[in-house]
Amino acid sequence: MQKILIAGGAGFIGSHLCESFLDENYAVICVDNLITGDKKNIDPLIKNSNFKFINHDTTKFLQSDELTEIDYIFHLASPASPNKKSPRSYINHPIETLLANSLGTYELLELAKKFSAKFLYVSSSEIYGNPTISQQTEDYFGNVNPNGIRSVYDEGKRFGEAMTMAYVRKFGTDARIVRIFNTYGPKMQKDDGRVISNFINQAIENKQITVYGDGNQTRSFCYVDDMVNGLKLAMFTPGTKGQVMNLGNPDEKTILEIARIIKNMVGSSSEIIHEELPEDDPENRKPDIEKAKRLLKWSPKINLEDGLKKTIEYFKKI
Ligand code: UDP
Repeated sequence: MQKILIAGGAGFIGSHLCESFLDENYAVICVDNLITGDKKNIDPLIKNSNFKFINHDTTKFLQSDELTEIDYIFHLASPASPNKKSPRSYINHPIETLLANSLGTYELLELAKKFSAKFLYVSSSEIYGNPTISQQTEDYFGNVNPNGIRSVYDEGKRFGEAMTMAYVRKFGTDARIVRIFNTYGPKMQKDDGRVISNFINQAIENKQITVYGDGNQTRSFCYVDDMVNGLKLAMFTPGTKGQVMNLGNPDEKTILEIARIIKNMVGSSSEIIHEELPEDDPENRKPDIEKAKRLLKWSPKINLEDGLKKTIEYFKKI
């Protein structure tokens, strides 16, 4: 049985990935220190004898009896929300975020080297910063404030990418980088402060829907099942060693459009209000996914309405 280590496996995307691999009969080791991940996400998996949870900070050397062999390592361990109002955001965990993506990436790459495991680093569209081109291609170097409020995440991810490529070049590690664009779906944290979870919960509770700024900034939202499929293909597809791939859904919307769509779908009486735009909030985000289409034969399948329907159902239930 092949063994997969998922760092950040108790997080939103990580826990979906754990579940998907267990369904396909892999042994899964989930490593998470739960600073932003949530035990609730993996509670249903604990009874599966192929699943092991290790409460561990990835920036420290990982030693465990479970670690006799590892075939694949996914590194998703990092705070990811930019919303300073959320206790889980990287703004409120600045040092942890920098270290998870620098030292954490180093420790996990060392583990990959030791076990000759394949490695996937989960980077982010944030490495493009406030992009000066629309539809970001992998060869665009970005427009990042190197010491602004979001820099702990942006520069953390950029460092993580550099570290990953250094292992590919120096040690021949079989590693690849995936840049994830905005992803949503069940198991997002209610208090994460991300736009989709905020708007849905505000709409369900008939509270004011808080659009930051004028709402003309754009994002492109990918449903989590599509993202999980893309991550697996990026790891398993031959020829991906040393490759950098965008994964996301290019269906671009303004934040104001998203507010209206969610309000209508929930059938809410919420008022849409405007609040201050956070510092360095990117004006646009739209992935160019031609490379992933070509290399992985992957493209997102779930449209915004279907994905939102499932996400709204989830938040209504919890
Ligand atoms: N946003 C908003 N209201 C909210 C939360 C977020 O208008 O309650 C905006 C935020 O300013 C950004 C976009 O929605 O322009 C996406 O924010 P999110 O935190 O989900 O992710 P980002 O893409 O900024 O990392």
